Amino acid sequence: MSERWPRQILFGDIDAMFASAAVLADPSLAGKPVAVGSPPPRGIVAAASYEVRRFGVHSAMPTLQAVRLCPQLILVPPDRLLYTRLHCALQTVTDRFFPETEWTSVDEFYTDTTRLQTRHPDPKELAHTLKADIRNFTGLTCTVALASGKTVAKIAADAHKPDGLAVIEPGSEAAFLAPLPIRSLPGMGPKSTEIVERLGVRVIGDLLAPRMEPALFRLFGSRLPALQSLARGLDADPVVADREAKSMSHETTFEEDTDDPALLEPIVHGFLETLTHDLRLEGLAAGSFTVKLKDTHFRITTRQRKFSTPLNYDPDMWADIRRALADLLQPRSRYRLVGLGLSDLIPAPEPLFDRRQRDAIATLDRLIERHGTGVVRLGGLPHMSDGSTKRGRRRGT
Ligand SMILES: [Mg+2]
Repeated sequence: MSERWPRQILFGDIDAMFASAAVLADPSLAGKPVAVGSPPPRGIVAAASYEVRRFGVHSAMPTLQAVRLCPQLILVPPDRLLYTRLHCALQTVTDRFFPETEWTSVDEFYTDTTRLQTRHPDPKELAHTLKADIRNFTGLTCTVALASGKTVAKIAADAHKPDGLAVIEPGSEAAFLAPLPIRSLPGMGPKSTEIVERLGVRVIGDLLAPRMEPALFRLFGSRLPALQSLARGLDADPVVADREAKSMSHETTFEEDTDDPALLEPIVHGFLETLTHDLRLEGLAAGSFTVKLKDTHFRITTRQRKFSTPLNYDPDMWADIRRALADLLQPRSRYRLVGLGLSDLIPAPEPLFDRRQRDAIATLDRLIERHGTGVVRLGGLPHMSDGSTKRGRRRGT
């Protein structure tokens, strides 16, 4: 029996989630070189099965290049509805085990298991049971790692994929990290990796070598101690359950009551643009929406609808919302307030757009950051935003 840990974090990551989902949907694909993505010439690989990774195919690679590397590649289109269903099934399993789970993407989660040690004193046993339940309930395999902090748990899982189980005992973090390549540390992108490698830093342990200290200090300055803590495997980053972030909304009250759809529509559309921008920044997608109107007599009416699949790109959402608004408007009524809420927020299954579209949306989001939603938009929609609306955001409803 292991000793009780002062702090214990569990990280779970489904193995090749989208590719595995494709096999669940069509079991004849099992063991075959499957990748999920959009077709050439412009498409990209959203997820690669372990069978095609052997050929050097990986996610975010142009499909054209993937087919060259692996001519027998079987390309399956993304199925967002299926990923959402699987995400919900995964949540059902984690909810049975853990009081709180932080989902950082549709298939990755952290949970703080410190207090669960009374019931599950052996972390290996806990990981085994969780993996088996996920497998039985969803058909997916999950790599699970336990450590004293999130960073080490994540790095340990990455190093043990697929279908892995890793337990990094407290006190052994630095020894576990020391021989790993420097790029395994979060925040060490290709550029930073190249720079520190030029200094002769190859593995994480080198960040702690006294002979490296002066050169590293010149490079990182006051950020060096934080980086060295990470290299020692010390991180107190808490698990933040995102249960409360289930909705966001905007509404505005008019100076004069109105019954004019030509006025209401652009306002609601402007809300949608701002809200979807926030969703994309947070990596979320909305499963449903609510349109709200308050009439001259302060009577509130609402219409709530589900999207066919969770979305975060406004042009895909506007037709449903516009229809709901039209349904809600009553003849001979005048309105003093209109609002739009997005709810059933879940981590967005990504990357599901083709690369060009994704780049365009990312550029759009950067422009919105700089200039606001009224100024920029992608092609396909006329300018409709109303710059005068007041923005209010609510969480936790
Ligand atoms: Mg995964």
